[in-house]
Amino acid sequence: MAQLDAILAHIDSELEGSLERLFQLLRIKSISADSAYADDCRAAARWCADTLSAMGIEAAVRDTIGLPMVVGHYRGAGESAPHVLFYGHYDVQPVDPLELWTRDPFDPAIVEVDGEKRILARGAADDKGQLMTFFEAARAWLNVEGRLPVNLTVLLEGEEESSSPSMVPFLTENADELKADVALVCDTNMWDRRTPAVATMLRGLVYDEVIVEAASHDLHSGLYGSAARNPIHVLADILSGLHDSDGRITIPGFYDGVAEPTAEQRALWQALDFDSAAFLGDVGLSIPAGEAGYSVLEHIWARPTAEVNGVVGGYAGEGAKTVIPAEASAKVSFRLVGEQDPDRVRDGFRNFVKDRLPGDCRVRFIDHGGDRAISQPSDGPWIRTAQQALSDEWGCEAALIGMGGSIPIVTQFKHMLGMDSLLIGFGHADDRVHSPNEKYNLDSYHRGTRSWARVLAALGA
Ligand SMILES: [Zn+2]
Repeated sequence: MAQLDAILAHIDSELEGSLERLFQLLRIKSISADSAYADDCRAAARWCADTLSAMGIEAAVRDTIGLPMVVGHYRGAGESAPHVLFYGHYDVQPVDPLELWTRDPFDPAIVEVDGEKRILARGAADDKGQLMTFFEAARAWLNVEGRLPVNLTVLLEGEEESSSPSMVPFLTENADELKADVALVCDTNMWDRRTPAVATMLRGLVYDEVIVEAASHDLHSGLYGSAARNPIHVLADILSGLHDSDGRITIPGFYDGVAEPTAEQRALWQALDFDSAAFLGDVGLSIPAGEAGYSVLEHIWARPTAEVNGVVGGYAGEGAKTVIPAEASAKVSFRLVGEQDPDRVRDGFRNFVKDRLPGDCRVRFIDHGGDRAISQPSDGPWIRTAQQALSDEWGCEAALIGMGGSIPIVTQFKHMLGMDSLLIGFGHADDRVHSPNEKYNLDSYHRGTRSWARVLAALGA
């Protein structure tokens, strides 16, 4: 305990130096989406590798088919200590529209808003601020104790904001080198300003495109109307049948692998006091639209979805054009939970469409990818250990939460490296990630660093 206290005290007294290092990284314009910034991305990778190496975590910039990875290794904790892999990303989103920023997005500063100190810069939260909480916790351990309590591999990518084209090939090629007992992923939020969180569930995704074709070309509705099949009507009819009047998805077999929330989960989520009225109210809504019999939190964490994301067909320009189009298309996606199999969900959807397709129509599909859901038992040893360490830092029990979205790297770690992930982050819903005036609370940064120092201690104990 005295050891951990000394490390925490070191983090407190070194906060200024720690912020200066964070600001160095934030000044690098590592926008991965824009090739004009490729050199800046490489500079950010170099900065991370040099910083880790100077701390005693031997790291190198590693080439990929795209922007480089940074890989570092520390083996000084001994054979019996656990081996963790820390994942983060050094790239950031573009900054447009620049005129909406209150200051230069690459000139970080601490500003005070509503009595709260905030680090303002592109990447302050996503993900440079978050990854630096881990770097600085490791630095404090190494400075005070001369060692880390765990063996560590660091993996940083530079294409997270550009759909990570190099990640799967890199993981495939370097699986043996990267595999660890558990991954630490720092790209998520706290439950609220005071309550830290470990995310234990992520929904999966299936994305498909459906194109219904009828006549050989667009037709005049006066000449062909009522004689010719209209593919917009056909598609709308099929899509409107995806849900019944209770909001349940009607594709046969769709719910295979979907488990009801357990009594324990329901009790935990109940205790979180989620304000569903405010959640919907923030976006101008008031009536939950999901399956009957579930709370809003259950809708977004524990239930699968079928959503039409876009429909295209016919004439949508100015004025009137009396046309019966030759084709209509839709983009349709499914959020998956539990053990739902993406291939079976896709097949189920395609069969659902084909079964309802009238004669004289043809249908094509385009596969836009998919991933399984991730769900980890909330009483698993890694999760329990991390939860306790976070609770110790923040003085209240850390929440075990679900997430409605997907984090592909977590799925890849699970299915390519057989490794679970601890999803711990200190962001807030109002951090404006990807938007102008992105910020990270100073409290998130400082206590996030302290939190990781505690988590490392707990994992190594
Ligand atoms: Zn992002």
